[in-house]
Amino acid sequence: MTVVIDQNEKDRRALRHPEKAHRPDSAVLRKPEWIRVKAPGGIAYAGTETIVREHGLHTVCEEAGCPNIGECWTNRHATMMILGDTCTRACAFCNVKTGLPGPVDADEPQHVAEAVAKLGLRHVVITSVDRDDLADGGAKHFADTIHAVRRASPDTTIEVLTPDFRGKKGGVEIVMEARPDVFNHNLETVPRLYLGIRPGARYYTSLRLLDRAKELVPDGFTKSGLMVGLGEAREEIMQVMDDLRAAGVDFLTIGQYLQPTRKHAALDRFWTPDEFKSLETTARAKGFIMVSATPLTRSSYHADADFAEMKAARAAKA
Ligand code: SF4
Repeated sequence: MTVVIDQNEKDRRALRHPEKAHRPDSAVLRKPEWIRVKAPGGIAYAGTETIVREHGLHTVCEEAGCPNIGECWTNRHATMMILGDTCTRACAFCNVKTGLPGPVDADEPQHVAEAVAKLGLRHVVITSVDRDDLADGGAKHFADTIHAVRRASPDTTIEVLTPDFRGKKGGVEIVMEARPDVFNHNLETVPRLYLGIRPGARYYTSLRLLDRAKELVPDGFTKSGLMVGLGEAREEIMQVMDDLRAAGVDFLTIGQYLQPTRKHAALDRFWTPDEFKSLETTARAKGFIMVSATPLTRSSYHADADFAEMKAARAAKA
């Protein structure tokens, strides 16, 4: 199959993902009707956008091209992406720009805190690019951001979605010392696909990170997420669920992988809403206290409502 790409698209790719430029093109499959979302826009959406811009922030909503941005930003939910907009890894599924990042902005924690207060968030999700270039992988910057948000908005609960701090001893300890309400780290896919999908990561390193977070703060909540549609088998997902439960993970998210460009990992197939429902039922049976498994589920999608439900579910069990 021949795919024609215009020069502008080629330039844009070269700019955002230089490491993917040599990859063969794969066709982007047409989305089924259950994936369609409304185009972003409206006054409330623009209000969120203004606050994000005014504070010079990056959001994963925009950088990753999240399909839910219209809904989330209309509800003033934006997921802050700290430590810059450039990632030192080159995951095959991810649309965040890759390359050599600039220096860390020491004022960023304060800017995030001000934006969270202005947005009036009850629950904020803070994530970052991978910063393998930093001695602590960015862990202290996460802790500084947690503290800044706590000072400005003491009633806001804080969820961090961190990188794996691979090879950075003490990273998770620094983050957990700041006591986020939820520690999230996504496994993203099944171990068999790691080399192609998360080439810079190791499945057991990520699993151990989650285990360690729970060890450090046993009464905290831990969370992880998977994408489906990359060629994984249902049995492999079952095994990942068992591994996550063994690591004490409370909350599992599962969403459909959407291929950002023809140079990204090829989409194998769209899982149907019924298949997602079945994954959710199985995950709950395996003991997760909270599960979100729908085609449009993302780590931070409805994170505030899900956090409240998870807390209530734990309290009911106690
Ligand atoms: S699901 Fe998360 S990343 Fe996507 S738009 Fe909503 S808050 Fe942003």
